[in-house]
Amino acid sequence: MERGIVELKSIAIDGPAGAGKSTLARQLAKELGFLYIDTGAIYRTVALAVLRAGIAAEDSETVSSLLESLNIRMDYGPDGEQRMFLAGEDVSKAIREHQVSGLASKVSAIPAVRDFLLDFQRRQAREHSVVMDGRDIGTVVLPQADVKIFLTAAPEARARRRLLELQQRGQQADFETVLRDIVQRDDQDEHRAIAPLRRAEDAELLDTTQLNLEQSLQELLRMVKEKIDL
Ligand code: C5P
Repeated sequence: MERGIVELKSIAIDGPAGAGKSTLARQLAKELGFLYIDTGAIYRTVALAVLRAGIAAEDSETVSSLLESLNIRMDYGPDGEQRMFLAGEDVSKAIREHQVSGLASKVSAIPAVRDFLLDFQRRQAREHSVVMDGRDIGTVVLPQADVKIFLTAAPEARARRRLLELQQRGQQADFETVLRDIVQRDDQDEHRAIAPLRRAEDAELLDTTQLNLEQSLQELLRMVKEKIDL
């Protein structure tokens, strides 16, 4: 994509819950000087709005009508971190609550929600070089992305990492519950009718089960450098 003399680049990273997408995508963007966009955070913000409005996530009609009045904004703080705002309130922390994760997965299966957010996401890539992570970035949001990566790991490894993350945030959780939630969320994301979680045909697979964060990042950088001149 051309914009003036600067050629914009896009990197799509998709994969299941807890594969390390956001941590790795954020670091990759930093290394490359690209904008990092966590699309899960956008779905989570819609889910929080649904929760606060007291609407059942299964009630797709009422959820769809809520979208018209939804006031969602995305911004970057002084630390460079993506922040989400709902009706002017910074909800970046609130959207990480465990309850919101499951709800986001349900709400994101509603076609009107996906339609509503599609433009929002594409606009970012028209204005910046981006590393965007999610479930359908390589397949639906940015099918022309310069680099597509499908990041995954064994469910147990993902559950262990997610458990650690929750514990570091001071949240109570146990391994079995986290694993069950991850498997359930993958199942919902993989089997929904539109934009299901799947590897794009032209996406490269990176399995991080046996890799630590630094090794995964190096591998990602290698994959990116193979595809684009930096
Ligand atoms: O990535 P994260 O776990 O924050 O995403 C929360 C939920 O949002 C996912 O389980 C998925 O259902 C949904 N999502 C999506 N498409 C994306 C990003 C997230 O459907 N591009």
